[in-house]
Amino acid sequence: MVAPRRCDECRRHARVSPDASRPRPCEPVDDRRGCESAGARRQAARRRGDTLFLITQDQRSGAGHVCGDRSPDLERTCVQQPRRRSRAIRHLVCPWLRRRSSVRRGCRGREDRGARSHAVAGRRLQRWRALAARRRPVARDRQISRHARARRRRQRPGLHVSSRRGHAVSVSVDLLSLTPGAARDALAEWLTQRGEPGYRARQVVPRLWQRPVGSWAEATDLAVPLRAALDQSFPLRRLTLKTHQVSSDGTQKFLWALDDGEAIESVLIPEGKRRTLCISSQAGCALGCVFCATGRMGFRRNLSGGEITGQVRELILRDPALKPTNIVFMGMGEPLLNWEAVDATLTILNRAEGFGIGARHITLSTVGILPNLAKFAKRPEQFRLAVSLHAPSPALRRELMPIEKKYTLPQLMGALQQFRRRVTLEYVLIGGKNDSLETADQLAKLAQPLEALVNLLPLHPGGAPDLTPSTRAQMLAFERRLKQRGVAAVLRRSRGLDISAACGQLRVEVEAEEHAHIE
Ligand code: SF4
Repeated sequence: MVAPRRCDECRRHARVSPDASRPRPCEPVDDRRGCESAGARRQAARRRGDTLFLITQDQRSGAGHVCGDRSPDLERTCVQQPRRRSRAIRHLVCPWLRRRSSVRRGCRGREDRGARSHAVAGRRLQRWRALAARRRPVARDRQISRHARARRRRQRPGLHVSSRRGHAVSVSVDLLSLTPGAARDALAEWLTQRGEPGYRARQVVPRLWQRPVGSWAEATDLAVPLRAALDQSFPLRRLTLKTHQVSSDGTQKFLWALDDGEAIESVLIPEGKRRTLCISSQAGCALGCVFCATGRMGFRRNLSGGEITGQVRELILRDPALKPTNIVFMGMGEPLLNWEAVDATLTILNRAEGFGIGARHITLSTVGILPNLAKFAKRPEQFRLAVSLHAPSPALRRELMPIEKKYTLPQLMGALQQFRRRVTLEYVLIGGKNDSLETADQLAKLAQPLEALVNLLPLHPGGAPDLTPSTRAQMLAFERRLKQRGVAAVLRRSRGLDISAACGQLRVEVEAEEHAHIE
């Protein structure tokens, strides 16, 4: 008979203790294979998913030496260290292990245990494994949700907590990201805690949006100590103007730097008594429409409510006469992909305590993010909706707008049927792509049931270089065809083309900043 192979541990044991009657560190699992090395046993246990065995092995250094094949034959389990050292295993690993007589005595398990004890132990092990299998994902989920909770807490608008070990925790709230109602409540609670009279909140809230101040120090109608305390608890975050360009047609483009170094643009379009401000809702955009400069820039991050409304606020701070009469969410980014902040912004723009701009003067433009479009549709105010359509068939739209893969044109049209207010369809005319008269007929079929207004826009430079704008004659023919089909259509004039402020041209570039006129 071939002598069984021994692992290093067994050989060492044999050298120091020739007494064969004493148990070896390793139990020969299979005489033909000899001793299983510790590494092999661990690997086998990992393959079997025998977590108990692995935990026990991890405890070896401090709590005793476990050898033998733990599963499925539990009787071969053996703890060979003195009782005191093996106690840690018994208490840490598993309660049923504690009850085993072999462990209590610190000797090998009795071979004469009957089939009943095998079955009981097997069932216990099965139960333990099932429990462990159930618990593992739960624990992991708990961990994920803990991280997600922390992330949400960090991203929650208005609450900024900074803490370092050993340092005091300072909490400041960004009132400008809250809706007027929430800001009033937060202020009222804070003022009550300070023992201020109730009317103070009515003095403070208007300084946020109605008669904004750049810092609390400028609110001279408030007492100096109160201003200092407000500055500490509710600092007013500002956007920094980096460049300001004025077009020959009066359009103004503003490049704002954010706290973290990102930058966004907004465009003011004066026309008679109207001053329309085109605002950004994201830094960059993830959707990559081929004709859009912002899409080519890629996505940087969502803006907070304070940063979106800040574009209006900063304008009023510069000159109250510049206060916009109309707001369009047609700047950088897809507003419905930043719904929480945009939702709060709509309230701030519209409420009398906010900027007090009428709902019908506020237009949200989207490519059609359907779940959030439904939320927008549920708002009771009569905000206007503009949909970036740009193609009347799914195949052509997929070519121009990758979002078509996720929310298809038929789904979008179905959602718009549910929208109770009149919709505007935005349509950029691209030479040889979507400007044929047949395409106009297809577009008319989509617009007719919605009684939608179709805004026809010339293609502006900044998107994919291989795209060419439609000729003026083709654009006029397209518009005429739509009108012949009974669709209200308007061919829009390009504004701010000379300063790259026209539709689809907003893009923050270092080169552009360097060449721009810096105030
Ligand atoms: S058109 Fe709008 S959604 Fe499309 S890439 Fe430009 S900013 Fe994003």
